[in-house]
Amino acid sequence: MIRRDKSRLAQLPTPFERLPRFSAHFGRGDEASSIWIKRDDCTGFAGGGNKVRKLEYLVADAVAQGADVLVTMGAIQSNHARQTAAAAARSGLACVLVLADTVRGREEPYRSNGNVLLDRIFGAELQVLAPDEDAAAAAERTLERLKAQGRRPYFIPVGGSNALGSLAYRDAVLELAEQARAVGRRIDHIVLPTGSGGTHAGIAAGVAEAGLSCQVHGISVSRAQESAHALVSGLVAEVAVLTGRTDAALPKIDIDDSQIGPGYGQPTAAMQEAVETLARTEGILLDPVYTGKAMAGLIALLCAGRIPHGETVVFWHTGGLPGLFAYPELFR
Ligand SMILES: *Cc1c(COP(=O)(O)O)cnc(C)c1O
Repeated sequence: MIRRDKSRLAQLPTPFERLPRFSAHFGRGDEASSIWIKRDDCTGFAGGGNKVRKLEYLVADAVAQGADVLVTMGAIQSNHARQTAAAAARSGLACVLVLADTVRGREEPYRSNGNVLLDRIFGAELQVLAPDEDAAAAAERTLERLKAQGRRPYFIPVGGSNALGSLAYRDAVLELAEQARAVGRRIDHIVLPTGSGGTHAGIAAGVAEAGLSCQVHGISVSRAQESAHALVSGLVAEVAVLTGRTDAALPKIDIDDSQIGPGYGQPTAAMQEAVETLARTEGILLDPVYTGKAMAGLIALLCAGRIPHGETVVFWHTGGLPGLFAYPELFR
C-alpha cells in the first residue's frame, strides 16, 4: 500500500466502552449480549466527531499540494464544515464553507447557533446559499473566484467522503479490532449512521481487510436504500484501489433506510427517544441529524430480533453534539 501522510488532529485511540445500563434497558444486560460503543464523538479536536479522522488525510494532502485555502460544502448545520474550519485554522490555511439551505422549515437557532456559531469562531468565510441554489455549482464558482485572486484552493467534497477521506475509517477499524482483541471480545455487528458514505465505506473496507466476521449496518440519514448502497459501494471500490486490494471481493453493503423520517435533518420521534434514552442511561449525548437516527435504527434492530441475544453489537458514535443546539424545541 502507498504510504500516505496524516496531519495529527485526532486524539487516538478513541475509547471503546461497554454500555451496561443502556444494554440492560433493552434486555441485553448479560455480558455476552451487551451493547458497546466506539466513541468517535471523542476524537477531541474542535468538538470531536468522525470528520476529524478524515481530515487528517485530507489536510495533509492539501498541504502537500501547496494549498492555501480549504473549500468545502454541506448543510447549514454541517459538522463536517465545522471540523474543516478548525482543521484549516490549525494548519494555517484559510477556509470557505459553502452552506446549502436544504433543511426545510427550520428558522432560528438553526441558522445561527450550533455548528454555524463555531464555524464563525474558527474564522471561516461562510457562504450561505439561497434555498434551491445548486451547491455544487456554487462551490465551483467559489473555486474559480479564489483562483482568479491568485489563491490555491483545495476542494474537499461533502462530508470529506472521497477515497482518501474514507481511508481514515479503514484505519479506524484496525484500531477497533486491536481494542476488541485487548478485551477478548468478538464483534458481531457494527451500527453507524450513513450520510455522505465515507465512514461506512471505510468501515466496510476495514472489516474486510481485518478479516472480521462482523455485519456492518449503515443507518441512512438521507438517501433511500438503493442510492445509499450505490454511493457506499463506489467508495469501497475506490478505497480498495488505495489499499491495493482490488483483487479481493468487495464486502456486502447493508443499508437500512427506515429511520430517515421526513428527510435529512428532519426530526423523528424515534430519534428523539433514542437521544433521551442514551443520555438518561449512560450520560452520553447523541445528535438529532445522524447519531440519534442511527441509534433509533439500532434500537429497532434489537426490538425486531435482527441482533440476536448472545451477539455483541458496537454502536459507532460519530459525534455531532453541536447540532443539538439547533433543535432546542425538541427537548423542552
Ligand atoms: C458526517 C457525519 C456522519 C456521516 O458520515 P458520512 O461519512 O458522511 O457518511 C455521521 N455522524 C455525524 C455526527 C456526522 O457529522
